[in-house]
Amino acid sequence: MTEGLDRIIAKAADGGRLDAAEALRLYREAPTGVLGRLADAMRARKHPDRVVTYIIDRNVNYTNLCVARCNFCAFYRPVGHGDGYVLSFEEIFKKIDETIAVGGNQLLLQGGHNPDLPLAWYEDLFRAVKGRYPGFKLHALSPSEVLHISRLAKISTAEVIDRLIAAGLDSIPGGGAEILVDRVRKLLNCYSKSTADEWLRIMGEAHAAGLRTTATMMYGSVETDEERIEHLIRLRDLQDRTGGFTAFIAWSYQPEHTELGLYEATGVDYLRTLALARLVLDNFDNLQASWVTQGGKVGQLSLAYGANDMGSVMIEENVVRAAGASYCMDEVEIVRNIENAGFVAKRRNMHYEILGDPFFRERDVPRQLSLATARADGDTSRPEELANYAARSATEKKLRSGISH
Ligand code: SF4
Repeated sequence: MTEGLDRIIAKAADGGRLDAAEALRLYREAPTGVLGRLADAMRARKHPDRVVTYIIDRNVNYTNLCVARCNFCAFYRPVGHGDGYVLSFEEIFKKIDETIAVGGNQLLLQGGHNPDLPLAWYEDLFRAVKGRYPGFKLHALSPSEVLHISRLAKISTAEVIDRLIAAGLDSIPGGGAEILVDRVRKLLNCYSKSTADEWLRIMGEAHAAGLRTTATMMYGSVETDEERIEHLIRLRDLQDRTGGFTAFIAWSYQPEHTELGLYEATGVDYLRTLALARLVLDNFDNLQASWVTQGGKVGQLSLAYGANDMGSVMIEENVVRAAGASYCMDEVEIVRNIENAGFVAKRRNMHYEILGDPFFRERDVPRQLSLATARADGDTSRPEELANYAARSATEKKLRSGISH
C-alpha cells in the first residue's frame, strides 16, 4: 500500500470528508476487505444499535408506456405497442388491499413517461387512494416523472409537486438518477428525460416543499469511475444544503433485453461501490442493500459493506425483472438474512422510523415465494376511467374516443 493511500484510509477511518480524488484512489486501490471495514465502521457510528431495517411495501408500475426510451431500459413499451398497459384505479386498489394484508403501509408508485396521462389523472388517483385508505403512504413519481408531467401540464415542477402533495403525495423516490453526469445521460439516452441539474433541482424543490426523498445510482453501464464519484458528490452537496434525503440506494445496470446490452457489474464491484458510497455520503443516514439486483446472498453481505437497511419486501417488481434479474425475498427471508448476519431486524416506515418487530411474528402471513407482476400475462384490458382524460398521442385519441362514444 502506498503512503498516500494509507493517509486516505486513515482519514476515512476517522470519519473525515473525502474529496473526489481521495474517493477515486480508495475505490481503485484499497483492498475490498479494507473498504468493507471502513464502511462498516461508518455504518456502526451511525447505527450503533445493530438494527437493520426493512419496509413492507409494493412496487407498482402504473404504466409501461413511455416516450423517454432510455437505452438501458427493458421495461418500457412505445406508445401504441400491444403490450403497453395503464393500470386502472381498481387494479391499484386491489394491489393496496394485498399489500395491507401482508403488513404493508405504502406503495412505491412509478411508471413510464406516458404522454396520455395528464396531471389530473395522478391527482385523481392519489385522492382516491387517500380517500379509501387513510394513513396509507404514497412514495411516488421520480423527478423525471415530475418533469414529464410538468411538461404536459405546462406548469413548473415546483407547482406539480405542490399539487401532488395536495392530492396525497408523501414522498418522492430517487429513480431516474442513473448517473448524474450529462455525458453519461446522453450516452444512455436519458438526457432529455431529465438532465443531472434538473433531477437535482426537482429533488431540492421536493425537499423545500417538505418532502423527504431517496437518492439512487444505477452504476455499471457506460460511466467512468470518476463519474460514479461525481454522482455521489453531487448528492452529498444537495444533502448538505437540504438534508432532505432519507437514504441512498445503488443498483447495478441490468443489461438483458436492453438496447444498450453490455455486461452486468460483478458482486465485488457492487460491494466496493456500496462501501465507497457509505464513505463519501457522510451526511446520509441510511444505505439500502439492493438484493433485488444482487440476490439475497450479496444483499446480506451488503450489511458488512455499509448498508443498514434491506430495502423493501417488495411483493411486486416489474422493471428489474424485465432486464433479467428476478429475486424474491418475503419478510421471513429478509429477517432470516438480517438475523443470520448478526443484526436485529425491525420494520420501518418511509421516514426510517421504527414501526416494530417483524410482522410475520405477530400475525400469520402467507409465504410469498415469487414476486407478483403488474398484470397477468395476456391481460390487455383498458381502464374505463381513461375516457375522462384528454389524450395527446394520435393512437390514444382514437382509442379514447372509442371508449367514450
Ligand atoms: S427507465 Fe423509465 S423513463 Fe426510461 S425508458 Fe424505462 S420507463 Fe421510460
